[in-house]
Amino acid sequence: MAGVSYPYPYEAKVSQTLFDRASLVTPGGVNSPVRAFRAVGGTPRFMVSGTGPYLTDADGREYVDLVCSWGPMILGHAHPAVVEAIQAAVTRGTSFGTPGEGEVALAEEIVARIAPVEQVRLVSSGTEATMSAIRLARGFTGRAKIVKFAGCYHGHVDALLAAAGSGLATFALPDTPGVTGAQAGDTIVLPYNDLEAVRAAFAAHPGEIACVITEAAPGNMGVVTPGEGFNQGLADLCRANGALYISDEVMTGFRTSRAGWYGVDGVAPDLMTFGKVMGGGFPAAAFGGRADVMGHLAPVGPVYQAGTLSGNPIATAAGLAQLRLLDEAAYEKVDAVSSQIQGLVTEALTKEGVAHRVQTASNMFSVFFTENEVRNYDDAKKQEAFRFNGFFHSMLAQGVYLPPSAFESWFVSTSHDDKAIERIAAALPAAARAAAEATA
Ligand code: PLP
Repeated sequence: MAGVSYPYPYEAKVSQTLFDRASLVTPGGVNSPVRAFRAVGGTPRFMVSGTGPYLTDADGREYVDLVCSWGPMILGHAHPAVVEAIQAAVTRGTSFGTPGEGEVALAEEIVARIAPVEQVRLVSSGTEATMSAIRLARGFTGRAKIVKFAGCYHGHVDALLAAAGSGLATFALPDTPGVTGAQAGDTIVLPYNDLEAVRAAFAAHPGEIACVITEAAPGNMGVVTPGEGFNQGLADLCRANGALYISDEVMTGFRTSRAGWYGVDGVAPDLMTFGKVMGGGFPAAAFGGRADVMGHLAPVGPVYQAGTLSGNPIATAAGLAQLRLLDEAAYEKVDAVSSQIQGLVTEALTKEGVAHRVQTASNMFSVFFTENEVRNYDDAKKQEAFRFNGFFHSMLAQGVYLPPSAFESWFVSTSHDDKAIERIAAALPAAARAAAEATA
């Protein structure tokens, strides 16, 4: 990067070669857009292995991983007990297309941890979970409209790929070509943390809103903590208006506590969605909630939903092994690691006089380059995001892998030990300087 000097050699020759190859056969060279480093520039690192808190790229360089596969790897990479469970499962066969005990055990573990979940259906991605929950809410209520919040991401579901503009109740315009006006037309997009806007939407559309879906504690516009009473207010407004309250815990579930964000704020949703941690690094996700609502799903009810690989035996074995290791002590450890890193980041940026704000949702956190509180997507967009670029590349050059965007949560694991944290601490001063020197 021009204008920024790094203390270590900064080459990624093999990754670049792989990226060139990938770009010929895959759009943008990646299978999920943020991996392409478009927001920060440079060569995406192609990883070849992971152990504990470390990733090793194709050039043989090791990084402390603060992305953790965007959340799932809460025990670190290749945890021996998880690997053992996967190895045992894989030798028994990889997919049967029939029910199996692993699915039952994983469903029981989820139901045991999260009181509002009386029944759960397993799927393969968070996107599938939210898409199915919305369909179920519409089928259950017989209503078409849904409410979502700007800056909340719920996967690439057509009806949810709309963040829309300002104003209290903006009818969604699709965010992407390929989503028709009809698909997004029943989506009402509201500013996050604004209960009045939700009240107004219910008043404007009596008897028409099937559900309100929200990230339990948003992490997809950076971490934005729900204001005091916001989630409870949503639950109350939904109940008063005959709509369902859907809490998307794909990111927070089994990460922010034993019972996810529900374990933190205790607000009971009608439906919840899960993914990431519950799959132990495999494609496993779920939606669940009130038994009377879930009872509307096929084969007992009329709302269709299905999946060839749903409840896959390897994925359920990995997820179950991971969840069983996630006791209170594990969450205490993740929380402690997270606080320690937050403290180090704050110290380094403060020393360089960089205006910033660390926002948290339990052990999820992100660093906004602004002094002002970020309560919604508009606030998030006002940060000096250009400072993140130099900060990110300096950390990368020094062997610390951050999410490649200023609008993402950082994730840590139980495996981030003193040595890994020392490496982060050593990298931060130069990164903070790069942030301070950055110009728009
Ligand atoms: N919901 C939330 C809150 C998410 O953060 C994500 C992914 O990041 C999803 C849904 C979609 O999950 P997936 O990427 O597994 O489809």
